[in-house]
Amino acid sequence: MFADLHLHTHFSDGTYSPEELVSEAQRHGLAVIALTDHDTVEGCSRTASECQEKGLEFITGTELTAEQGGDEIHILGYLLDVRNRKLLEEIGKFQAVRQNRIREIVARLNQLNVPLEAEAVFGLANCQSPGRPHVARALVQAGVCADLDEAFERFLKRNRPAWVPKFKMSAAAAIDLIHQASGIAVLAHPGLNRSDDPISGMVEAGLDGIECFHTKHSTATTEHYLELADRFHLLVTGGSDCHGMSKGKPLIGTVKVPYQHVEMLRAKATLKARGPVARGA
Ligand code: AMP
Ligand code: ZN
Ligand code: FE
Ligand code: FE
Repeated sequence: MFADLHLHTHFSDGTYSPEELVSEAQRHGLAVIALTDHDTVEGCSRTASECQEKGLEFITGTELTAEQGGDEIHILGYLLDVRNRKLLEEIGKFQAVRQNRIREIVARLNQLNVPLEAEAVFGLANCQSPGRPHVARALVQAGVCADLDEAFERFLKRNRPAWVPKFKMSAAAAIDLIHQASGIAVLAHPGLNRSDDPISGMVEAGLDGIECFHTKHSTATTEHYLELADRFHLLVTGGSDCHGMSKGKPLIGTVKVPYQHVEMLRAKATLKARGPVARGA
């Protein structure tokens, strides 16, 4: 039995609907999936229903955009209560940040004589958590760029003319937010970060796990983070980070995480739910 614990739908910057995602998961023989759309839990209930119907195990999730030492990092939240009021309130603020950022990016494009309307991007994104990939798609659709890569290279990448920085919560705030919604906090794709140095601080802030298996991790990188997980007593997770058709070939099915890691994830969540008193009993 295998799991993919890092997946996106059109509720952020993926292209699959929850139904398409579950159907693809089934086609690739996955027994468990977690939905981890950026700064939202909007797609979880539909994905959960579809998983139930198709006989797959579903894990609620999100991928929070955070900041550590000036660098953007991503914190995955698993098994969280997707109706938690504080969680919805806080991610609502970050969704507003994303929407305002889209308006600023479009304003910069307009200054560069690229005719594009923010509403066109929102219409295309059709979700609470729009991002640069949606602007890129709108630029391709408008015939301004040939493909998404060109849109990022010419306009949207850091330090390109339409790039706008994004306000982010701290890593510790993201970990706390996940915990207060009864979730498990996991550092996403550490191999893509500039350094491992901040990890010990995040462990002190309550980080529960680390994503060792990821499409962009080489075998050596995976080995390295498995050792690090062992050293810091962290849970091990992994996933394909599939965005559907938006980044070329769909990645679902390329990373298969052994079921034992799902069991350990669930065990830790159960232990936490019992609280510190019951733990010693
Ligand atoms: P945002 O959250 O708005 O900052 O957008 C980040 C998203 O853009 C991530 O999912 C990245 O994978 C994606 N992205 C970054 N660079 C590129 C690129 N050159 N081509 C396509 N997607 C990209
Ligand atoms: Zn994404
Ligand atoms: Fe990420
Ligand atoms: Fe992701």
